[in-house]
Amino acid sequence: MKTKKFNLGFLPTPLHELHQFSRKYTPGYRIFIKRDDHTGLASGGNKTRKLEYLIGAALQQGADTVIASGAQQSNHCRQTAAACAMAGLECHLMLGGEEPKVKSGNLLLSYIFGARIHYSGEKRKGEDAEILVEKLRSAGNHPYLIPYGGSNATGALGYVEATLELQEQLKTLNLQMDYIFFASSSGGMQAGIAMGKAMYGLHARLMPIRIDKEPTVGKTPGEMVSSIINEARERYGLNAEVNEDDLKLLDGYEKPGYGVITANEKKAILALAGSEGILLDPVYTGRAFYGLMHQIENKLIPRGSNILFWHTGGLPATFQYAAALI
Ligand SMILES: *Cc1c(COP(=O)(O)O)cnc(C)c1O
Repeated sequence: MKTKKFNLGFLPTPLHELHQFSRKYTPGYRIFIKRDDHTGLASGGNKTRKLEYLIGAALQQGADTVIASGAQQSNHCRQTAAACAMAGLECHLMLGGEEPKVKSGNLLLSYIFGARIHYSGEKRKGEDAEILVEKLRSAGNHPYLIPYGGSNATGALGYVEATLELQEQLKTLNLQMDYIFFASSSGGMQAGIAMGKAMYGLHARLMPIRIDKEPTVGKTPGEMVSSIINEARERYGLNAEVNEDDLKLLDGYEKPGYGVITANEKKAILALAGSEGILLDPVYTGRAFYGLMHQIENKLIPRGSNILFWHTGGLPATFQYAAALI
């Protein structure tokens, strides 16, 4: 079945060069940025593109209710809540931990968008979602369950399409990227880019920075990426001969744990903010951009390379991490 898209975003997103940053921190390299922090939908982020397909599928199936899960500062849940508001769907979010007295960052926004919040304690990846699905069904709702991070074959279609968008922008600018860095966690974005790269012949080595050290539904991040690609082959007949290397992630930067801000993330955030006026978030893009800086500083990337950083959003979480940042 072909999935119909529900338009949510401001696309295509801009692509531009980071002149000041390169001059100051990475002389000898040209660094570019793809601004998926400006996809629209409640301040932007990479979930916009996934949600266009996921919400499209929910509406196509006649759903009236959507369920998503994540951490309290989940960007995915905030953007899902906003997407549901736009599509006229009831939104239920299962968020890890206990209800805090003061709601801030993404959690505050999820409330503002009218989502019904269920606190799920230790389980921040939707482990109990089926129970809620059944409860809502017996109450007469038609729920559509979105997997953790919006990462399945349907969500990944958004990044297959985004890769074509990037390819066309690069053609127009007469540019080739040697490396593409981005934050990779539940694997949907990476799976989409890996498939898009194979389908449209994009030249570039993927540098997905691992963010989360815990497995998702018992799978390592690399296993998540390949299972999404297999699902896309079966469900949508996507004929992508994905390179084995594009299923891997760059490990090491995730060691402090998910959502733990160290001197590394802080260094990257302050460097890009101070040289370009661009905000990285503490959980995903701060860690991924540190990975880019670290790889260059340690001469793991040849001089003269063209490098793209694919910004994936995350701004609202910044306010939750104030104490770790300044
Ligand atoms: C969800 C998210 C990612 C990771 O994308 P996945 O498809 O889950 O790997 C990266 N950056 C931000 C800001 C996110 O919210």
